[in-house]
Amino acid sequence: MNDFRDRIRPDWASVLLHVLERAREMGPKGILAFDLDSTLFDNRPRQARILREFGEARGIGCLADCRPHHWDSGWDMKAALRSCGLSAEEAERIFPEAKAFWAERFFTSPYCLDDVAVRGAAKFVARAVEAGATVAYVTGRHEEMREGTVEAMRRNGVAVPGGDVHLIMKPTFEMHDDEFKREAHARLKRMGTLLAAFDNEPTHANDYRTKFPEAIVVHLATDHSGRPVELLEGIVSVPHFEVERRGSSVER
Ligand SMILES: [Mg+2]
Repeated sequence: MNDFRDRIRPDWASVLLHVLERAREMGPKGILAFDLDSTLFDNRPRQARILREFGEARGIGCLADCRPHHWDSGWDMKAALRSCGLSAEEAERIFPEAKAFWAERFFTSPYCLDDVAVRGAAKFVARAVEAGATVAYVTGRHEEMREGTVEAMRRNGVAVPGGDVHLIMKPTFEMHDDEFKREAHARLKRMGTLLAAFDNEPTHANDYRTKFPEAIVVHLATDHSGRPVELLEGIVSVPHFEVERRGSSVER
């Protein structure tokens, strides 16, 4: 799978610092839009917990030991099953049952509590809020996951909704993510001026780039759904949000 790592330029951190500078200049009319899954949050601990519980329920020892690193190759559950120690054949055979078990749990508040913040994400959002920007979390998660989502933010030190921080979610689980995100764009336009948007899905980053040509569009080169989509020119890829280490030195 193309993980876009080769798009990360050595000066990527300067783009994030520039966003904060512009946020200070624009104040609350400047909006920073953040996707959640694989952008601000790393979902691998949630994925691992589900496979562990599946392994425990079915008496499959190697799955009962599943850890976040077994999900390093992205959202591909068969790859995770193999990474835990199942053979390719066993993974194929068990996949439908494991997937059904997963689907009952993944999109729920109690399970999204396991998410951890992407490196530097909490601090970057805090700096944006401090700078006076409006922050909008635009996520494909549905409203039923609001409680767990806000609690995961609290636990990870990510600014929680309130004041100039907004959480825009899908009204229902059934609504398609792409359709929802396009509707959310109209809402962002009513709120002010989109200064920057952050998303790991190439399709969504491209949508922002097309609909908001003045905005800075930042792509998180974490993982994505695997759809074969190229990123449009002008979109900046970054590995995470940690822009400073030991004083002012910028790291890759
Ligand atoms: Mg995402």
